[in-house]
Amino acid sequence: MNSKNKSVPPRYVMAILLIGFCVLSAVTLVGAYQAKKALPPYVGKQLTEAEMNEVIARNSPFTSYVHLSPNADFPRESEITKITIHHMGADLTLERLGESFAKRDRNASSNYGIDRNGSVALYVEEANRSWASSNAENDHMAITIEVANETIGGDWRVSEASYQALIELCADICRRNGIHQLEYTGDAGGNLTTHNMFRKDTECPGPYLEGKMAEIAEAVNQKLSDSRE
Ligand SMILES: [Zn+2]
Repeated sequence: MNSKNKSVPPRYVMAILLIGFCVLSAVTLVGAYQAKKALPPYVGKQLTEAEMNEVIARNSPFTSYVHLSPNADFPRESEITKITIHHMGADLTLERLGESFAKRDRNASSNYGIDRNGSVALYVEEANRSWASSNAENDHMAITIEVANETIGGDWRVSEASYQALIELCADICRRNGIHQLEYTGDAGGNLTTHNMFRKDTECPGPYLEGKMAEIAEAVNQKLSDSRE
């Protein structure tokens, strides 16, 4: 028998090399992709009280609960110059909203949440961009806040405790980020914006909060001017 017939034909060698190359390339690409998608520390994890306090120290001191969502861009690409107010469209506890934002397939988050008792949670650190307002440009510039609803449907009211906490939180965000004044213009030109300015088919922030926007800006500006005196 001719010994040549026993050797592996060159085209098989080529095929094996090609397959090997493809597998290696795929592994390298997946590795690079995962490295790029690697989340910062504390994101997507249950935090201890000490860890929560460490995170709160670089965000609003009004925060009492932290559950950092992976649904965010790390870090944000613009300076913080705006605040965007949302309603939850529900009356969730801070923990429940955190669980919801923890689901990657939900593709949603906000920087802060306020429950009906006026307690504040942090889901996306201020340094990072939340996925809240259906508008990347706005969310890179804005701190976004979800407020629990006291009534579901209709006017989508929020409680007095939530409302007061919202004013305090907005004033604190402005002070720490050098926003001298909040201006509500009713459109995306002001620095107090709402979700429905960017997405026409949402009820968010609901008639109740939307009707309060000018009042919110005024109350926050009063607090800012008081603290400058
Ligand atoms: Zn919204």
